[in-house]
Amino acid sequence: MAISFSLEGKSALVTGANTGIGQAIAVALAEAGADVALAGRSEPAETIALVEATGRKCVNIRADLSSIEPVGRVIDEAAAGLGKVDILVNNAGIIRRDDLLQFSEDDWDAVIDTNLKTLFFLSQAAARGMVERGTGKIVNIASLLTFQGGIRVPSYAAAKSGVGGVTKAMANELAPRGVQVNAIAPGYIATNNTAALQGDETRNRQILERIPTGRWGDPKDIAGAAVFLASPASDYVTGHVLAVDGGWLAR
Ligand code: NAP
Repeated sequence: MAISFSLEGKSALVTGANTGIGQAIAVALAEAGADVALAGRSEPAETIALVEATGRKCVNIRADLSSIEPVGRVIDEAAAGLGKVDILVNNAGIIRRDDLLQFSEDDWDAVIDTNLKTLFFLSQAAARGMVERGTGKIVNIASLLTFQGGIRVPSYAAAKSGVGGVTKAMANELAPRGVQVNAIAPGYIATNNTAALQGDETRNRQILERIPTGRWGDPKDIAGAAVFLASPASDYVTGHVLAVDGGWLAR
């Protein structure tokens, strides 16, 4: 039996794909053969052009994922545009930084709602169709803070630890129905999300000193893992959180 990383004939929905890790994943899924729907609150013109340049179809869905209000519509529009959703990549996420003793309820709720609550209910909505067809892949973007506490980001650590938990919870119930659910824990990747850290000379040096690979990750470093977890090559992998971190967690 040939091992297949091909996504020919598959349809993928990627959230937050106008930039950064989501953009790299959307393009890589298209390069592997999938048609792609993008769901986000900003115009993803660059990503649409990159996906279409691969020859694959691209559907653009405008949605603010800070609440679960658009969840049903996003799945409906993706299915209407592409026929079905075989692969869901929950990538959209935010981070709020502040000292623990003054961390606000707003900074707590905003991060938990976008990074964890919407991720679960969007997965639930996508999983209904996947279960009906007896096949599907859900890939959640977790974090090193799925395993660690971080500094000045308690709601992010809580949300991303929760992502690890719901990944396993969903995997257990969906495995017998033909759906695999996994997560990727990116290390320190150079994107908007980490611009403040990259710009802080001391933190930047401390981070680089601790990464065995000795460099910040590129969004493309995450894309290969996403293609693997979306493809038949990973059919016996479920409930796993795959660190793509230049060796950070090995230290
Ligand atoms: P990014 O460049 O800031 O991208 C985040 C994406 O999420 C953007 O497309 C953003 O859209 C979207 N998003 C945020 N809030 C949204 C909302 N309410 N509705 C719809 N879309 C929303 O950062 P990134 O680093 O690529 O982050 C992607 C994922 O990787 C996140 O889940 C992040 O937590 C995770 N991650 C990143 C790193 C890293 O080192 N960069 C490490 C671990 C995990 P807008 O452009 O409209 O804001």
